[in-house]
Amino acid sequence: MTSVAAVLDTPAQQAPALEARHLTKHFPVRAGGLVARGALVHAVEDISLILPRSGITAVVGESGSGKSTLARMLARLITPTSGSIFLDGAEVRARARRGYARAVQMVLQDPFSSLNPVHNIGYHLARPLKVHGLDGSRSMDEAIAGLLDRVSLSPAGQFTGKFPHELSGGQRQRVAIARALAVRPRILLADEPVSMLDVSIRLGILNLLAGLRENDGLTILYVTHDIASARYLADVIAVMYAGQLIESGPAARVTDEPAHPYTQLLLSAAPDPDRTQPPSLLGRGAPPNLISPPGGCRFHPRCPHAMAVCAAERPPAITVAPGHEGACWLHARDLTAAQSLPLKTTDVSTGADTGPGPGPNPGRVPDTEPGTGSREEKS
Ligand code: SF4
Repeated sequence: MTSVAAVLDTPAQQAPALEARHLTKHFPVRAGGLVARGALVHAVEDISLILPRSGITAVVGESGSGKSTLARMLARLITPTSGSIFLDGAEVRARARRGYARAVQMVLQDPFSSLNPVHNIGYHLARPLKVHGLDGSRSMDEAIAGLLDRVSLSPAGQFTGKFPHELSGGQRQRVAIARALAVRPRILLADEPVSMLDVSIRLGILNLLAGLRENDGLTILYVTHDIASARYLADVIAVMYAGQLIESGPAARVTDEPAHPYTQLLLSAAPDPDRTQPPSLLGRGAPPNLISPPGGCRFHPRCPHAMAVCAAERPPAITVAPGHEGACWLHARDLTAAQSLPLKTTDVSTGADTGPGPGPNPGRVPDTEPGTGSREEKS
């Protein structure tokens, strides 16, 4: 899969706010033990992603899928092994760090560890204002009060003198967002911003992010393992599995008609208050070892629809509807009979054979025109 389509009404001549092209990150394994020296963790492989201006794009995946590594590369906290990043259409060069940090800010998952416990809230907000320069029309106190007001922490006087441990988790995350806003960024990268918060206050943070897009035109990348919250907040959802992008498209479309069996698995595992029966999980096992990931489709050891071709070749991005792509051989046409044979797979968590066995593959979509791949016959 090579790109996420911009579904917002962005003028054609306007460059995306942020774009990743073929980003890859391999981490060297330095520990001893059974892992040979020189081994690499293939954390992110060849991901291209477009963040439309003033849009909210969600990157969804389970733990270890590489979504946070992708966000950290986009924030330039870690250096890609290969690939390029484009800001407002211009390739980002290694040196322009401060200018980039002004435009692109990151909010981390844990608001407690991201705030220094020995400094009060006023200090946390004053520091970036001093480093990056104040809007000259306001005093420092006015600027801090304005930031706290933008994240609905008011009156400001109640918060500036407090220390992080004196605030609730939700209030701490609001302070972390206010600190990111201090440099007047155009793009916010939010890495699991609600996953450490009580369920009751998650909605407030999601609504805060939605308001920042709505009122200030911020471009937002929302990284999450929770596909339900991604649907609530985002315009576009990109799904990652084992370091690769495997599906992307408009949020409602991806969640209503998922094209990839892994997205179906994520959705079937998501909490659903209307569900009366236990979820039927379309998949099994655990994510693969990224030091030696499976060949072909990385999901094939877990996929209930795996075919012979899935173990042999990586599936390309296939358009299943306008702006909606899935990297899955089920949507390919012109597969040979041999390629379509059901694959006998091994449950990676138990080692047991779990393949669909002989007979027609239940997940196979009949040959269709590219871009119109029907999924009616999928289970
Ligand atoms: Fe991957 Fe094949 Fe399953 Fe599609 S059908 S998800 S390509 S294993």
